[in-house]
Amino acid sequence: MDLKKTIIEVFKDVNSIKEEGALASYIPELANVNAKKFGVHISTLSGMNFGLGNFEEKFSIQSISKVLSLCLAYQMLSGELWNRVGVEPSGTAFNSLTQLEKDRGIPRNPFINAGALVIADILLSNLADPKRDLLTFIRGLSGNQDVNYSSKIASSEKSIGYRNVALCNFIKCFGNIKNEPEEVLDFYFDLCSIELSCQDLSALFLFLANNGKTIQGNKQILLPSKTKRINALMQTCGFYDESGEFAFKVGLPGKSGVGGGIIAIHPGQYAIAVWSPQLNAKGNSYKGMKFLEEFTTLSQLSIF
Ligand code: GLU
Repeated sequence: MDLKKTIIEVFKDVNSIKEEGALASYIPELANVNAKKFGVHISTLSGMNFGLGNFEEKFSIQSISKVLSLCLAYQMLSGELWNRVGVEPSGTAFNSLTQLEKDRGIPRNPFINAGALVIADILLSNLADPKRDLLTFIRGLSGNQDVNYSSKIASSEKSIGYRNVALCNFIKCFGNIKNEPEEVLDFYFDLCSIELSCQDLSALFLFLANNGKTIQGNKQILLPSKTKRINALMQTCGFYDESGEFAFKVGLPGKSGVGGGIIAIHPGQYAIAVWSPQLNAKGNSYKGMKFLEEFTTLSQLSIF
């Protein structure tokens, strides 16, 4: 299978389809992104790196960073993590408040906003300087020392972050946030604001295709048993209320963000990142979903 040829073909096809969807303009700064951007980059365990379109351009990875904060927390903690956050798809919107009441402040999974706030709280309790330590972790994995938070995007989101403020306070009242909500929220907005390119993303996430070990440096980031569980969570909860659809059509563990990025992993084979900022009704990149569906169909490289 000539993967480069397949990517070129699928990129051309998807690039020519009519634009659909909308920018995530509820975060004011994200309304300024050029909606026409489209990039893809693949990194394989066999050492191939290949990108097309705007694959070198940084964008706001938003919820994709929730996988990275979870990995960092999971490095330090084991089973006790799952007492604070569940492992079930939520079946509700990523920023929903309703389930939390019934579930007494234990979010359904670490990728909905409520779950990511609890993970942010865990990092605040366990790291000396969580903001610096998360960045060091991401820079190390991507091999790119220029990776950074965007204070512009973080403060833009903070200016309208009423729902996340409500979520954090609500969880706090059940005792599942240990630090001050304001501190947790600031760290949460920062981690959502991280900017990476498709090239950075596929390089960074390749360890999840490699039993938790980096290719360069052969460093064990997560135990294989923990890596399997991160991939399982991405498979079942990585695409908001469209996770079933993504498994059905694409067949890879992955995670999307409202910045229009998607990372998808084929354990034992590759990591692939796509970016196109216009989102479908479920909040996933319209073209990104189309690209990955056609890519796994033509390459026959899904996990199913
Ligand atoms: N920072 C975004 C929010 O909390 C993340 C949303 C996302 O990418 O799913 O609304």
